Amino acid sequence: MYGAVIHAPGDVRFEQRPDPQIEQPTDAVIRMLATCVCGSDLWSYRGANPIRRPTPMGHEYLGVVEEVGADVRAVRPGDVVIGSFFASDGTCEICRSGYPSRCVQAIGMGSLGAQAERLRVPLADGTLVATPGTPDADLIPSLLAASDVLGTGWFGAEAAAVRPGKTVVVVGDGAVGLLGVLAARVQGAERIIAMSRHADRQRLARTFGATDIVEERGDEGVARVKDLTDGLGAHSTIEAVGTQESMLQAIRSTRAGGHVGFVGVSHGVELSGQLLFYSEVHLFGGPAPVRRFLPDLIGRIWRREIDPGLVFDLTLPLSEVAEGYRAMDERRAIKVLLQP
Ligand SMILES: [Zn+2]
Repeated sequence: MYGAVIHAPGDVRFEQRPDPQIEQPTDAVIRMLATCVCGSDLWSYRGANPIRRPTPMGHEYLGVVEEVGADVRAVRPGDVVIGSFFASDGTCEICRSGYPSRCVQAIGMGSLGAQAERLRVPLADGTLVATPGTPDADLIPSLLAASDVLGTGWFGAEAAAVRPGKTVVVVGDGAVGLLGVLAARVQGAERIIAMSRHADRQRLARTFGATDIVEERGDEGVARVKDLTDGLGAHSTIEAVGTQESMLQAIRSTRAGGHVGFVGVSHGVELSGQLLFYSEVHLFGGPAPVRRFLPDLIGRIWRREIDPGLVFDLTLPLSEVAEGYRAMDERRAIKVLLQP
């Protein structure tokens, strides 16, 4: 089969890879219906993560089960399935407490390379969720979004304790931030302030439920949020970037006693004890427990209550994956869907 392999920063190739096989009795092999490029893939593409050898890429997937191992019970060949960016057993104490991305057996799906024609999914019973039937073609982008960006935005809102009547700030206008807006709206936020400088992303944020846009960053951005919140800051802030600047933006935009949900993959963030002490905000975040949300999110998509697939503004054949990375790197695309 063919799939995406990164050789060096800026160098993603579509090349032949070994066909995935059932290696453990708990494995499934799926044929990809749709996969995509994630903002977090850009960390490698831009050289922020070391690349020691040619490495398969991709951790978001919607596919059809082709084959299952002897111990797999929950899915069968022919099922259309979605899983999260971590495989998880669904049975350990951490999974049962609601944090499957930190499962004691967690396996990062990025290491298996989902930007490919086929994919081995470990711990299939715990990891995969079948859709209610064969999805209509127009639902595929939204179902694929559930694999990571929707579930991650959803967790951002949960971690930020979004509730009816609250004012929410969303830092970051990538797919996760935009879907954090959607999640905040569905979870009942009254006011949603999206921080974005890009007209197309601002429009999508408004489509998803943003009530206000703040273009400024740093001190000016904080001041604008304070202006909009009686000088207090937001009740809840979703941080969806992962940089020092965005973390500080999030903490400083939040009122005392408020909550910051941080879901941008952290790179180079260092917080001072004094800042944390006097901010007096709740901080919670990490790799989103997407698997926990999948049944609910798939249901909402299937009933056409939400349309998270709108974040895909470029669709390419999987063979043009390198152009997909370029388009996202240059911010010509919010998120790129890849079709095998
Ligand atoms: Zn587990």
